[in-house]
Amino acid sequence: MHAVALITGSSRGIGRGIALELARHAQHDLLINYAGNEAAAQECQQLCLEAAAENIRVEIVQADVSSREDRGRLLDTVRERFGRLDLLVNNAGVAPSVRADLLDADEASFDRLIAINLKGPYFLTQQAAKLLIDSPPHPSLPRAVINVTSISAFTASVNRGDYCIAKAGLAMMTKLYAARLAEFGIGVFEVQPGVIETDMTGPVKGKYDALFADGLTPINRWGTPADVARAVAAVALGAFPYSTGQVFNVDGGFHLRTL
Ligand code: NAP
Repeated sequence: MHAVALITGSSRGIGRGIALELARHAQHDLLINYAGNEAAAQECQQLCLEAAAENIRVEIVQADVSSREDRGRLLDTVRERFGRLDLLVNNAGVAPSVRADLLDADEASFDRLIAINLKGPYFLTQQAAKLLIDSPPHPSLPRAVINVTSISAFTASVNRGDYCIAKAGLAMMTKLYAARLAEFGIGVFEVQPGVIETDMTGPVKGKYDALFADGLTPINRWGTPADVARAVAAVALGAFPYSTGQVFNVDGGFHLRTL
């Protein structure tokens, strides 16, 4: 029997990398979620089916995680199509449309970032927890929630305070749900990526290329979606049975303080 994984924002970027890595292991049926880019979601579905070591189900659902109605529909779809949930990966997220200085940034960007990057996953997890709790434990795989935060959860970037605050909130959300869901045998984890090469970082590629040239991180290269996906897969496949609330840095060592 396959376990069932819902990965938000898995049409592109890190989410797609996570879907592909889980597909390769072929232990989970997958629900690919996207917001607006259906073609990318379909491409991801096809790539997952090709990557799978044995037959798995890979389905697609459009849903905006910032919409209460869409979140309800997303979980109804999991229930109707798969009947159970073993893994929720809260990956969907956006950067601010414009990086604005803390002294100028507007409320609309703040509200958008909080809605998609924090409130959405907070309430999606609340609803998903009920389905995770109701799903009989899989014989060999854990039930878990994995939140994709960012080094922005602890790094002050004064040109995107909204993003940093949303990610810091998501880090606290990991601790809250880890404490609440442990009694049900559900682990809750934070994966904290550094600078990862995706569409999100496309507009600032030149800036980060220059920073890497100056030695930004101890492991001095761009991260890839596959780097993040391997950490997620380790949790999803059960490598940490006596851990919860754990933070996995996937940042080339960015978080290290050196002297
Ligand atoms: P990306 O390449 O821009 O992809 C974003 C994904 O999220 C897409 O699948 C997109 O769907 C989906 N999405 C956007 N808004 C959504 C919404 N309201 N509801 C549902 N899905 C939505 O971004 P990424 O770089 O892979 O980032 C993925 C996550 O990693 C984000 O939470 C981001 O904050 C975090 N992160 C990224 C980096 C980095 O350097 N790239 C670093 C640290 C953390 P569509 O294709 O339909 O638009």
